[in-house]
Amino acid sequence: MIKNNTIDLDFDREHIWHPYTSMTKPIPVYPVTHANHNIIYLETGEQLIDGMASWWSAIHGYNHPVINNAMIEQINNMSHIMFGGITHNSAVELCKKIVNITPPSLTKVFLADSGSVSVEVAIKMALQYWLSQGITTKQKLMTPYKGYHGDTFAAMSVCDPVNSMHSLYSGFLPEHVFVPAPVSKFGSEFNQAEAQELEEYFKANHNQVAAFIIEPIVQNAGGMNFYHPDYLACVRKLCTQYNVLLICDEIATGFGRTGKLFAVEHANIEPDIMCIGKALTGGSMTLSA
Ligand SMILES: *Cc1c(COP(=O)(O)O)cnc(C)c1O
Repeated sequence: MIKNNTIDLDFDREHIWHPYTSMTKPIPVYPVTHANHNIIYLETGEQLIDGMASWWSAIHGYNHPVINNAMIEQINNMSHIMFGGITHNSAVELCKKIVNITPPSLTKVFLADSGSVSVEVAIKMALQYWLSQGITTKQKLMTPYKGYHGDTFAAMSVCDPVNSMHSLYSGFLPEHVFVPAPVSKFGSEFNQAEAQELEEYFKANHNQVAAFIIEPIVQNAGGMNFYHPDYLACVRKLCTQYNVLLICDEIATGFGRTGKLFAVEHANIEPDIMCIGKALTGGSMTLSA
């Protein structure tokens, strides 16, 4: 356990801009010395139970010996090396595991450095898929309201327009097709009217739409909206029927967060592209695929 020197909170307040707060009037920050299992230890001597696991990433708890040892072993070998034109065993073994545990039709892995960037990559893949077949009209995305897909620009453009403050960036953000957020709850009856409404959006827009992007089963940032798997199954069916790719953003839901290894399993569907991140490293470093 490493005990830091006293944390310079004055410097922090004056010079460090933390996420999701004002630069000029920041919210107070809690000085942390270390973390273990599910406990965060503060410099003041208090202990916090981290109920959100560092935004759903530290799924095995902090300081897990298996993860720590794997990281130390890797760093002693090499901490990082560019992946263009180079490969190594750690990457190959990780990607084998990813291919094995994700739905069978997903057989190719592209690694990236954060969840948001994996969403950017997924969007580029979807656009290229149509362009490579000479189809130039499919340049938009379709997505439900209340979604969250990250804070980079393309990812932000498919987040809920109100929550992610689209109005601040209007004119800069690409405009996509938003469909009603899922209403029928997980574990209740599915209202077929939702399926009919979705089909109207597909009918009207499919010629311009490259892909539909959705968080399977639970819209996390959008108020923890646990929705009916039939909504997802319906989206899958309509995507196939109307020639639209399906991107499932499992960055929050992946690795068992909803009771299945991946949330798409609740609806027995397979996406064309899946984004994973957060728990992929147990919160020990930033990596996505
Ligand atoms: C956290 C999250 C992202 C963004 O991942 P970052 O690693 O924070 O960039 C994207 N989509 C979902 C569903 C998320 O929960």
